[in-house]
Amino acid sequence: MMEDAHILTLPPEMSDLTWPEKIDFMYQQQLETWKMAKTHYQHFELTKTRDIAVNGFPFVIQHNPSRARSTCANLQQNVIEKRPCFLCLKNLDTEQKGLIIHKKYLLLVNPFPIFIRHLTVSEIKHRPQRIKNRIIDMLELTALLEGYTVFYNGPLCGASAPDHFHFQSAPTSNFPINSEIENQNHKKRTVLFEKEDLRVYVIPKFPMNAIMVESEWKEPIDYFFAQLYKKLPLPEDKSEPLLNIMASNNKGLYRLIIFPRKAQRPSCFFKNDPERIMVSPASAEFGGIMVTPREEDFKKITEEDLMQIFREISLDIPPEIKL
Ligand SMILES: [Zn+2]
Repeated sequence: MMEDAHILTLPPEMSDLTWPEKIDFMYQQQLETWKMAKTHYQHFELTKTRDIAVNGFPFVIQHNPSRARSTCANLQQNVIEKRPCFLCLKNLDTEQKGLIIHKKYLLLVNPFPIFIRHLTVSEIKHRPQRIKNRIIDMLELTALLEGYTVFYNGPLCGASAPDHFHFQSAPTSNFPINSEIENQNHKKRTVLFEKEDLRVYVIPKFPMNAIMVESEWKEPIDYFFAQLYKKLPLPEDKSEPLLNIMASNNKGLYRLIIFPRKAQRPSCFFKNDPERIMVSPASAEFGGIMVTPREEDFKKITEEDLMQIFREISLDIPPEIKL
């Protein structure tokens, strides 16, 4: 079958490998055989970055021209419906191969990297990008992909395929927010509430509003998320509340960070030059990596710009979520 041509099968002696080891194998295989991925990752190695602290939060600004297409993507439904879906097996590049997880998801190398080992975890079936009833899957993936963060961009919050369900993933050490949370002593976190099997925090110092949930079990996090989901405002198209999510697992402790939003893009995106700053924040940006496809934006963006961007797109945590 044509579709099977895109499934990477491991040699029998490699069947005992851990998932991070399988990813290394796939990543090498794809960079050796898939020219587009090879070229894009070679270019990515030359990407310029600079650091800006925002209220003490360490942002990395990344000048990444190959992300221009995704930053400016036109996600109007009529445009999406007319293009062949680039996550469906039948439309993948000839050389593109991935690993099947739980007979449901396909793990692929993302050919437009923001990270080394930037992965896409797409559902095999073509179904819309909706997070409802996916939190258990997301947490299960973090338990398999040790050392990796799994993230989700909503259909109006950075997903470039709003019609085909997918997570993305990258090594946890890439995201400034993770080390920032580890460095925070517990006094700096505000506990929203605590139960025997679940702890929910906000971190008031961050420039973006974030709700952080930790548990040794998946189910209490799933239940909390389902309750929160019902309390967040719906956008005009009623698809789902605007949000980005990051999930990780550290030695059996699950962590979900939810970023509720009130806008898809900041006002600076729509201005004319020289006021324009062409950024379209998604999970990477909420995690502390601000991608600027244009060099002028990379050079000029300031701490105040970043504060303003998050003020405009980040939703204040609704007081009624103290369940
Ligand atoms: Zn599709």
